[in-house]
Amino acid sequence: MARYTGPQCKLCRREGQKLYLKGDRCYTGKCGIDRRSYAPGQHGQGRKKVSEYGLQLREKQKARRFYGVLEKQFRNSYFKATRQPGVTGENLLRLLERRLDNVIYRFGLAASRNEARQLVRHGHFLVNGRKTNIPSFHVRVGDEITIRDKSKDSPRVKELMERAADNSPPVWLEYDPDLQKGRVVAMPSRDEIDTPVKETLIVELYSK
Ligand code: SF4
Repeated sequence: MARYTGPQCKLCRREGQKLYLKGDRCYTGKCGIDRRSYAPGQHGQGRKKVSEYGLQLREKQKARRFYGVLEKQFRNSYFKATRQPGVTGENLLRLLERRLDNVIYRFGLAASRNEARQLVRHGHFLVNGRKTNIPSFHVRVGDEITIRDKSKDSPRVKELMERAADNSPPVWLEYDPDLQKGRVVAMPSRDEIDTPVKETLIVELYSK
C-alpha cells in the first residue's frame, strides 16, 4: 500500500499552516513551521501571487496531506462523494473523517494520523470483533473499535491507551477508557469536522 515517505514539515510549510503530521513534536518549539514559517525551497520567501487555480490546488493538497492520502485515492474519494446525496464537499470530508486511521487518531489512540495508519496496518485493532488492517476502511454508525488483546501488552499501545483516556474525541465518536472500546455514534456533520480546509475550492478544482 503506497504512502508518502518524504519530509513531513515541508508539507506544513508549503501549506503555510500546521497540519500536525508529526504527533507530539508539533506541539513543541521544534515544529518546523514555528522555526521557518515560509514555504520550502529556493523561492519559498519570494513574492506570492496565487492564481484562482493555485488556491484550489493548495486547498486540495492541504486536505490530502492532512489525512495522509495519495492523489489517486483522494480523487477516488471525491468521485465517491459526488455519487452520494447531499453536498459533495461535505460528503468528501465525511468520507475522509470516517477512515479507520483517522478515527483511531481522533480517539487519541495514536499521536498522529501516520502513527494511526501504522498501528492499523500492524493489525492492532478490531472493528466489530474482526481484525481490520486497512487504514482506508470506512467506519459506519454503530461500529465498535477495540484493541486486540495481544496488542495491549505492547508498551507503546499501553502508553496510547493512557493518552486516549485523557483525550476528548469529537461528538460523533465515543471512547470508553475502562473497556478500551470506541464506538461511532453518528455520522460527522460539517461543523463537527475541524479540518482547516475550504472544501468548496476542492470541488471547484475537480469540476473543471
Ligand atoms: Fe507540521 Fe508537525 Fe512539522 Fe510542525 S512539527 S511543521 S505541525 S509536521
